[in-house]
Amino acid sequence: MPGRLQHRSALITGAGSGIGLESSILFASEGANVLLVDINIEAAQKGAAIITQRYPNVKAIAAKADVGKEEDVKSVVDKAVKEFGRLDVMFNNAGIMHPADDNALNTEERIWDLTMQINLKGVWWGCKYAILAMRENPVDEAKGLHKGGSIINTASFVASMGAATPQLAYTASKGAVLAMSRELAMVHAREGIRVNSISPGPLKTPLLMDFLNTQEKRDRRLVHLPMGRFGEAVEVAKGALFLATDESSYMTGFDFKVDGGLSSCYVTPV
Ligand code: NAD
Repeated sequence: MPGRLQHRSALITGAGSGIGLESSILFASEGANVLLVDINIEAAQKGAAIITQRYPNVKAIAAKADVGKEEDVKSVVDKAVKEFGRLDVMFNNAGIMHPADDNALNTEERIWDLTMQINLKGVWWGCKYAILAMRENPVDEAKGLHKGGSIINTASFVASMGAATPQLAYTASKGAVLAMSRELAMVHAREGIRVNSISPGPLKTPLLMDFLNTQEKRDRRLVHLPMGRFGEAVEVAKGALFLATDESSYMTGFDFKVDGGLSSCYVTPV
């Protein structure tokens, strides 16, 4: 059976952990060559080694980049094109949730700026260089390869819902990711470049679990989750895979919520 991403190549940011790591492994299992990008190069290298061992027929390469730096983002997109000959999928997934991110009164400007630099500008630059690369993708009808590609930007359920446990900069950055993704989708729709966002619910990954570092803090959230549990990173990766493949070929400007029903919830079951 040919994989759903056979002959395609993908760049995934934040690929050393959580959603990015699970997506890298899943995309590779479907035949994609993958560039795993992370600020933590050791973590990205570990991910690439797992893929190489499990799926020797695909290329998996690790590269270091801080997505908060434009020159880093440009250089990893260039690397993907050089190594794989094309870029079909750009998954702008890296993000931070700073422990000092709080409400309007307590959040320092440097925390706001750092969060925007990584969560918002990082996604903008990822989109910018992916668009430039995707415009040049070689066409190969026999292999089903076309110009353009799929850009997926990780937002969050908090982009659409308010929380009385505030992380103001994070929430604002993710709301902006939603708005930016919609607009990019419209601007580039006629170029065969699709842009969708994915909004995970609360997940059992280091990003959230390090933040909710006591059982009390976790219980404060769990009561609001319809399924009564945190999500797994791989459950979001499966959604990203759908957006990455041509199975979602008529979807652009869409926010794909993988949140265990959280954003549809008024009262949770008991
Ligand atoms: P994670 O902490 O498991 O992984 C994030 C990865 O991003 C890490 O490997 C980290 O080294 C990397 N990273 C951090 N800053 C970077 C930078 N400047 N440049 C490059 N890489 C960087 O987190 P996760 O839960 O998999 O989160 C992935 C995305 O999902 C983030 O954008 C996050 O905001 C979003 N999200 C997470 C949750 C959740 O509950 N975990 C919910 C909604 C949205």
